[in-house]
Amino acid sequence: MSSNAPLETTRSQDRSAGSPVIVDAKPAKPVQRTWAQVMERKSSVPEGVWLRCDTCKTMVYRGNLEANLHVCPDCGHHNRISAQQRIAQLADAGSFVEMFGNLAPADPLKFKDLKSYPDRLLAEQVRTGNKDAVKAGTMFIKGRQAMVVCLDLTFMMGSMGSVVGETITRAIELATKDELPLIIISCSGGARMQESGLSLMQMAKTSAALARFDDAGGLFISVLTDPTTGGVTASFAMLGHVILAEPNALIGFAGPRVIQQTIRQELPEGFQRSEFLRKAGMVDRVVPRSQLRTELARLIDFAGR
Ligand SMILES: [Zn+2]
Repeated sequence: MSSNAPLETTRSQDRSAGSPVIVDAKPAKPVQRTWAQVMERKSSVPEGVWLRCDTCKTMVYRGNLEANLHVCPDCGHHNRISAQQRIAQLADAGSFVEMFGNLAPADPLKFKDLKSYPDRLLAEQVRTGNKDAVKAGTMFIKGRQAMVVCLDLTFMMGSMGSVVGETITRAIELATKDELPLIIISCSGGARMQESGLSLMQMAKTSAALARFDDAGGLFISVLTDPTTGGVTASFAMLGHVILAEPNALIGFAGPRVIQQTIRQELPEGFQRSEFLRKAGMVDRVVPRSQLRTELARLIDFAGR
């Protein structure tokens, strides 16, 4: 018997001679769908036009999401975006001039895990159209010129290898020379393990360049987005004169699971999230994406740059 028939019917046992008689059986119990089944039905909507919010599970029209800077109009969840999208959101239209885009990663350690590092890089480069996980250049933000670096999560989780470190360092040095305010938008899984020690050296290199920038009187605004972790948090991302964070971004060195397993204690609610870190004094201000441009322009004015 089919369970999803709207109304069950059975043939009567006592049929009159000739034609069989169809009588209504007692109405079937309405089929109760579980939440998982409801969600499964929702996911049958064609991919691309409608997107489901990771947090509130509401279906959002892609056009609306893009118009809202990839923030869920229902619950305010800030979706992760690429460096290219970030630049388009921040810069005054047509004002971004890309720099250091000629740097490409090498494989001095001949690193191989399941795949060789060059093969992994090539696959990422073909998929994203970028050489590595960073974009840098000058732009105007509401008419204020700045040197801006954006890490790119879409390329190997925004991990910091030699190219990311070198690009950031060159951007800092040029900002020092040209006396431009520096803005770095971080989102990263941390150091790039395929570059091992060379990746870790980028932490010292970027930090040293920032110290010289500070000596020269430069303004560095660090913007932390979801997620900012590992060697990036442990170096330049936490060295801003002003540290801003997007709402509910995961910011930390080791992930919460690792910490929980190490200290064997329940972690407090909202641990390693922007709002928690603001209360702890690690972040100066939590800024929604819609206000980021205004906030950056205001800070540049405030610092007199
Ligand atoms: Zn939502």
